[in-house]
Amino acid sequence: MPGKARGKVTISVEECKGCGLCVESCPPKCLQLAPELSAYGVHPARYSGHDCTGCGICFYCCPEPGAIKVYRQIAPLKPAVPQGGEHAPAL
Ligand code: SF4
Ligand code: SF4
Repeated sequence: MPGKARGKVTISVEECKGCGLCVESCPPKCLQLAPELSAYGVHPARYSGHDCTGCGICFYCCPEPGAIKVYRQIAPLKPAVPQGGEHAPAL
């Protein structure tokens, strides 16, 4: 079942060797092998464009350094000092 999109990946067609390990390992199944061939004569992996959770599993499965980059969405920072409210700081 696809999770909430919290990340995205980019795949370098020049580095990808089309082994398919990332496609098989991706939990929400948001990677696929492209139907067209790359310059190396392989079907490179590509991102569907949705459902990536940013888990990084594809990155760790890929045998080609630099083929996959994973980007994670960062939650907005909460204020360090409480804003208003009925309790004042103790010190
Ligand atoms: S980071 Fe996780 S969810 Fe995103 S494409 Fe890679 S394996 Fe799939
Ligand atoms: S694991 Fe790496 S080399 Fe294999 S298909 Fe995916 S991106 Fe390409």
